[in-house]
Amino acid sequence: MSEPVLGGPATVVDTACPLDCPDACSLAVTVRHGKLVQIDGSRRNPVTDGYICAKVRRFGDRVYGPDRLLHPAVRKGRKGDGKFKRVSWEEALELVATRFRRAKAEHGGASILPYSYGGSNGLLTQDNIDAQVWRRFGTSRLARTVCAAPTGAANMALYGKMASVTYEDYPEAKLIILWGVNPSASGIHLIPYVREAQKRGATIVVIDPRTTPLARSADVHLPVKPGTDVAVALSIHRHLFATGRADEAFLREHATGFEQLRERAGEWTFDRAAALGGIDAAALERVAELYATSSPALVRCGWGLERNRNGGNAAMAILALPAVAGKFGVRGGGYSMSNSASWGIERPWIAADEPQTRLVNMNHLGRALTDYDDPPVNVLFVYNCNPAATVPDQRHVIRGLEREDLFTVVFDQVMTDTALYADVVLPATTFLESYDFAKGYGPISLDLGRPVIDTVGEARSNADVFGDLAKRLDLLNDDEPSGEVDLMVHVLDHLPGAIGSDLREGRMATPPFGHAPIQFVDVFPKTADRKIHLFPEELEASAPLGLYRFQDDPATAQYPLALISPASDRTISSTLGELTRNDAKLLMHPEDADSRGLADGDLVRVFNERGEVHCPLQVLRSIRPGTVSLPKGLWRRSTRNGMTATALAPDTLTDIGEGACFNDARVQVASLPTA
Ligand code: SF4
Repeated sequence: MSEPVLGGPATVVDTACPLDCPDACSLAVTVRHGKLVQIDGSRRNPVTDGYICAKVRRFGDRVYGPDRLLHPAVRKGRKGDGKFKRVSWEEALELVATRFRRAKAEHGGASILPYSYGGSNGLLTQDNIDAQVWRRFGTSRLARTVCAAPTGAANMALYGKMASVTYEDYPEAKLIILWGVNPSASGIHLIPYVREAQKRGATIVVIDPRTTPLARSADVHLPVKPGTDVAVALSIHRHLFATGRADEAFLREHATGFEQLRERAGEWTFDRAAALGGIDAAALERVAELYATSSPALVRCGWGLERNRNGGNAAMAILALPAVAGKFGVRGGGYSMSNSASWGIERPWIAADEPQTRLVNMNHLGRALTDYDDPPVNVLFVYNCNPAATVPDQRHVIRGLEREDLFTVVFDQVMTDTALYADVVLPATTFLESYDFAKGYGPISLDLGRPVIDTVGEARSNADVFGDLAKRLDLLNDDEPSGEVDLMVHVLDHLPGAIGSDLREGRMATPPFGHAPIQFVDVFPKTADRKIHLFPEELEASAPLGLYRFQDDPATAQYPLALISPASDRTISSTLGELTRNDAKLLMHPEDADSRGLADGDLVRVFNERGEVHCPLQVLRSIRPGTVSLPKGLWRRSTRNGMTATALAPDTLTDIGEGACFNDARVQVASLPTA
């Protein structure tokens, strides 16, 4: 890795992208006089192969843009109007520490709610010194469930989060089922591997309500209704068992609970599942037959299928397919999903034990801020996320943020929708200005990113700020890291195996089981008994209707359309959303537009009992009838009335994992002038 020359002539410097994307690209950043000139991909990470997404190419627009936070500030206007007065770091952090002490003395530590997600997804930017502060001060705890909670819970219960098939092995597959995932928008480096598989003759199946770019060239596309994936997957299980293609020898040796799964799948004929999913029964049967007869066969389980009331059971049923069909044990066979747990990193550097204080589900932020009274939330500390735009039941969240008696701190890189409601804003560095570890969760890769440009304004890294706050609150021991460089060295010292030494010596880390492990050859379930648990009793007990069950569609005659909010090619979750203004469009099928007298380009009102969004309509055939779509990650400036898809999403929780049910939003659409 070349050494960065800060403040010198133009030079190209290596680093890595830690943002919340599966790919973790290696980057070549051109820098002149300490300023960013251009971001490109480098070939250091062979999987990301020298190119990057268009989103991060324009990351400089965030770093130097008009929304960048340059110095700490305190509110001087009404909440939400964005008027702030510049203060020093000393004043800002002393104020925060004083309010922490006061809240704890008056209402207990649980009256403070730390609130964060994956906006800066590296190992250093969350769950380090911040976690020590929250634990040792006894604040409320946050259940980080806005994404990946149901799929993560299913993967953990079934396989203990065994490493899964990586991008490199896709070309080995003869059949690839891409289920609820659109790598053209999120995880672009998967595309060439799928194309290579196609070139070698693989059959491609896409299961998604939209005709995604890969669906256009797929052999079969099943445009399922949102929320019905569990029924579709169970009908494939039924077929496998009914036709003698379930691998019972494998199941007896490596799995528990397959009899219960077989029994629950028994009711799902192709006709019934297809009617429910709004798809063609013959096409579904074809997919089941292809799956039964192809090897290596690979199921890519995405995150689109989890964001509804049945999301956990859908993930269970989909991830159970390779076990029942006996698809493991060959290169390119098995399942593919998040590989974030493959490194076995348990964060031993968080020293404080976790106190059993109040646990707040992050999807319930609106309720927590307005309804909780035991104790009420008096201090909210937001970092690495923008809940005013991204959390379900947006109106409720904003009502909570407007509370005059709530003391809100927002620590972020830019003036987010949430920061507008802050009492104190603190400017954070971007990944180009600080150290971080970029961990891929598609490819199994881990690299050290580092500062490559001069810090903008007075921004400080997460580790430095939480270290400073911890010292003010007297929460750190002398031998514990209290800043970014200390923490980076400490983490390097405590990473398992040879990871730390690889990174210190300037290499990308070598994964414990190699970059492309074969499931049931190189890696096995990490459950306690090393078996696949197809019917974990704790999930049977906790899911509302039990395991492998279907909860009915929440649509009503008044609100018949299913609204989905999938990832777009503009934002990484909501990061970079500040660069998109006033141009979000609602996508709708021509049949739905015609029946409402709507035309392409009309300004429409999308509404339900929770709220409404005003935006132009785009009529196109690439979304199934009965389903409409707004992009995920929009900021309030992206629509005509300042509300986003989260204004229409319920804050109900998924059957397993207590995740967000964004895709259970049911809406009506009308022309705006006549509505
Ligand atoms: S967001 Fe993803 S594709 Fe874009 S640069 Fe980062 S890792 Fe690469």
